[in-house]
Amino acid sequence: MLRVTVLGSGSRGNAILVDGTESSVLVDAGFGPRLLARRFALTGRRPEEVSALLLTHEHRDHASGAVAASTRWGWPVHGMRASLDALAEAPKATVNLVLGGSNVPVSGFRVECIAVPHDARACVALVLTDVGSGARVGIAMDLGHVPEALPPALSRCDLLVVESNHDETMLANGPYPWALKQRIRGGLGHLSNGTAAELIAGAAHRGLRGVILAHLSETNNTPTAAMERTRAAMQRAGWRRDTLWAASQTVPCGPIGADGSTHPAVAAQLSLGF
Ligand SMILES: [Zn+2]
Ligand SMILES: [Zn+2]
Repeated sequence: MLRVTVLGSGSRGNAILVDGTESSVLVDAGFGPRLLARRFALTGRRPEEVSALLLTHEHRDHASGAVAASTRWGWPVHGMRASLDALAEAPKATVNLVLGGSNVPVSGFRVECIAVPHDARACVALVLTDVGSGARVGIAMDLGHVPEALPPALSRCDLLVVESNHDETMLANGPYPWALKQRIRGGLGHLSNGTAAELIAGAAHRGLRGVILAHLSETNNTPTAAMERTRAAMQRAGWRRDTLWAASQTVPCGPIGADGSTHPAVAAQLSLGF
């Protein structure tokens, strides 16, 4: 079965483990190999189980560990050409991802890339289809606004991982300098809770089994604020499940199955307020 574990998410590093029928892939490596290995260990897994690394874009919090980790564990790195070229060092093995289509095969998955607006050389949202089961996860992180092609791509997924970066009011009243606030809320920055909620509610359908909110700001957001906003929008859209989580910067979230099921350890973490 397809399963998703967010090993960590936020401005200090992102990494998402996606298990399929045939193999496992990692989406983004914004942690160095040591921290990454520790996050794997916390979930009872090992980096050696990963077959490939996919990069959404080249920013540090998504790619700082890409070269070192891929070298250490022999992962080929799949990314947009511009993102791969922007890495400080060339990874040993790279594969170019292309926009559109859903037929790029990667280790038992079909990968669809959708360009998203963000201040990187290139940035993509990914829809991974597990060829063995047909289950899909849509991952959309680091985008300033929602491009036309994204909602239809996300509306066919069993699971969604979507950035819910900041609470609009907390950002406006928060400590960041004006220029940084403008960057974050600008069209090439990050999604607010409100915009994320709207995007997710618009993509909700009967087959959607679970939603993980990701890339929450530790300064300008809280898991409660993000979850309340999305939950309300989804309920208005008629989604009746309660399989909604907020990923954390510091502890893994998951594994969450394509049917919305969770590992018991996750339920315990969630009740502790992580
Ligand atoms: Zn970024
Ligand atoms: Zn980021």
